[in-house]
Amino acid sequence: MSSTEVKNFTKKLISWQRSQGRHHLPWQINRTAYRVWLSEVMLQQTQVATVIERYQAFLKRFPSVSDLAAANIDDVLAEWSGMGYYTRARNLHRCAQEVVNQFDGVFPSDPKLLETLPGIGRSTAAAIAVFAYGESAAILDGNVKRVLARVWGVQEDLSKTAAVKTLWLHAESLLPKAPEDLVSYTQGLMDFGATLCTQNKPACIDGSGVICPFEKDCQAKKLSLIDKIPLKVKKVKVTSVDINWWILIHQGKILLEKRPHQGIWAGLWSFPEKLDLPLSAKKIELPTIKHILTHRRLSIRPVQVVVSKKLSNLDPQLEWIDFSELKKLGLPTPVKSFLKNSNLVRDDV
Ligand code: SF4
Repeated sequence: MSSTEVKNFTKKLISWQRSQGRHHLPWQINRTAYRVWLSEVMLQQTQVATVIERYQAFLKRFPSVSDLAAANIDDVLAEWSGMGYYTRARNLHRCAQEVVNQFDGVFPSDPKLLETLPGIGRSTAAAIAVFAYGESAAILDGNVKRVLARVWGVQEDLSKTAAVKTLWLHAESLLPKAPEDLVSYTQGLMDFGATLCTQNKPACIDGSGVICPFEKDCQAKKLSLIDKIPLKVKKVKVTSVDINWWILIHQGKILLEKRPHQGIWAGLWSFPEKLDLPLSAKKIELPTIKHILTHRRLSIRPVQVVVSKKLSNLDPQLEWIDFSELKKLGLPTPVKSFLKNSNLVRDDV
């Protein structure tokens, strides 16, 4: 694409953002590196509406990077509970500790330094550098890749390194020269991809009558390739997994297992899936729960086991937890909803 068209893209996007972009998201107010970083990480795999709800609560509980660094990881996971992709929460915690230990509690402004921190990739580093420090750096998250690929008609598989490299070069060449335009431009890319040039219903074909500022130049539109760009790569194979949940309650306490730091629901509390039970234990089968994860389709068979006395000699990862303490723990979504909705037989009420 010629430099004139590139210039127009940047200019049009800035003007679109100023008149039609988003200006009142909670993380756009009082932008600090901590707040920008938190919102960026939350938005990576969670819908904006959910992030709006959860962001304020997280900030209330951990108002600063040093509060987060000093917190117990279990409290961080509990606050993150329900948002999925828990590696993000563990990385947030580790990153906060590194910012405190290596940078005296102040996020660096150099995107290259930001990228060295846990959980911060190149695009997130750029977003923090632009929004918090006014640096000139290009973002390229999934939405931006889609927008650039459509406007410039990039038909390659965007999971391939060469295609991504080309898009990074594009993204860098599009940056506005005037420092005062950087925030509107970067926010514009985010807003445009999230609200107008969406994956399945971009404004130019959704019949809403909303005019896309790039409609005349957009290669995907001109060549009727909107549904082909970005190229859809083969979906990840989803495997079915059957698991048991052994549910034991004794004198107002429930037996939970702290999951290992790798694998599904790493570091969260769930029901034991393997347990040596006394032969006399009475078992009550409860309705099966279906739960879908990115790569797995879980079929969970909860079985309540009625025991006359507390099991002893338990593995160290197992713990009897008081019901009143459950809300303080990081629990996977299906465990949370099971505890909320099932009629467990309690021996203390
Ligand atoms: S014309 Fe359609 S596909 Fe192209 S940028 Fe605009 S909304 Fe996206």
